[in-house]
Amino acid sequence: MRSWRVPSQSRPGVEYTVSVDDGGVWSCTCPHYTYRHTICKHIVMVQTELSAPKPKYVVPPMVRGGVIEDRDYRRRFVERALEANTLAVLPTALGKTVIAELEAAELIHRYPGCRILFMTPFQYVWYNRCSWTNRCWEGV
Ligand SMILES: [Zn+2]
Repeated sequence: MRSWRVPSQSRPGVEYTVSVDDGGVWSCTCPHYTYRHTICKHIVMVQTELSAPKPKYVVPPMVRGGVIEDRDYRRRFVERALEANTLAVLPTALGKTVIAELEAAELIHRYPGCRILFMTPFQYVWYNRCSWTNRCWEGV
């Protein structure tokens, strides 16, 4: 038997236990399941979470694992940028800064002691990147 604790969506602080037995029969401790013995939203939430595709993460040198999702287009940009000057033109929030940081990590790994100049147009971007970088990079 496997079980999961699922918070109530209508009663703060209340949790229900969703279980599936070895025969694949699902149950929940919520009132809906207790009185109706039909599948409830908590069971659906667990089943949905279990079936959702899990993101893959990249683990380049100096970058902590489990932080940066592996996206094919980012990898292609980084590979290209390591070969020649590259301009990444992407919509907001698709990871232009992540591409630059992955490239920087690879360059620092390849050429220990080199320095990276990272320029941003706004102070808050810089602040957020420093915070993010501290979470993602090893030994920086
Ligand atoms: Zn339930």
